[in-house]
Amino acid sequence: MAVSEDEYKALPHQGVVAASEEETGRVLASVLARFPGRVAVISSFGAESAVLLAQIAAQDKAVPVFFLDTGRHFPETLAYRDELSQHLGLEDVRTLQPARKEVEYRDPEGQLVAFDPDACCALRKVEPLDVVLPEFDIWVTGRKRMQAATRAALPVAERQADGSVKLNPLAGWSEAQIADFMKEKALPAHPLVARGYRSIGCEPCTRPVGAGEDSRAGRWAGLAKTECGLHRPVPVTPPPGADKEEISATALLAERPVE
Ligand code: SF4
Repeated sequence: MAVSEDEYKALPHQGVVAASEEETGRVLASVLARFPGRVAVISSFGAESAVLLAQIAAQDKAVPVFFLDTGRHFPETLAYRDELSQHLGLEDVRTLQPARKEVEYRDPEGQLVAFDPDACCALRKVEPLDVVLPEFDIWVTGRKRMQAATRAALPVAERQADGSVKLNPLAGWSEAQIADFMKEKALPAHPLVARGYRSIGCEPCTRPVGAGEDSRAGRWAGLAKTECGLHRPVPVTPPPGADKEEISATALLAERPVE
């Protein structure tokens, strides 16, 4: 399956989606109604994941939520996945893992992260997700423009090379809005947030961040790497009616499904 051109045109695009709970709820409700059984969420169960997952749960607790268990996560993240899923009543949280034989063959000592982190992410994240990508047409992510300079022009809807669409309904949300939403809804926080972690991935590749740093500054710190490979650039079809400036930003930031 794929998202048709008419379906893609009808999706919300950059510049027309307000950063608010009401608007995010409207977008999610519309997409879930128009693409029944074709929508899935990808979540890292990290520092801000509760905000998207709570809004998904408010619409439909049975929407599939995928979590990539790389085998290198903080134990706190695995516990938080279970706690948050239970708190929100999520009914279909699916954990993906790398193939055991592939890990034994390509990373027998568990040192791949030290000398080739891109290969490590490919083995533990990209390839396990590739197996399920064809099952869904809309992949919802919780990425936001404010998280890092590399996400500053993040589109709301991104056409992918395989015909699917990545939807980023929180693209315009600010850090203050995220914090307010967490507080207002009394959502449980990832336990590492209190220790200065504002973006949380695998343990070997994550450190706390200081005041004034981007929230993602602690991911692959000291390396040029800024994404795990789930969001690497691919050619995209610009949204219909987009002006040249928007097409340029969309094309630059278009990525494969998912976080
Ligand atoms: S984030 Fe680090 S440990 Fe996790 S898969 Fe990527 S390179 Fe490996």
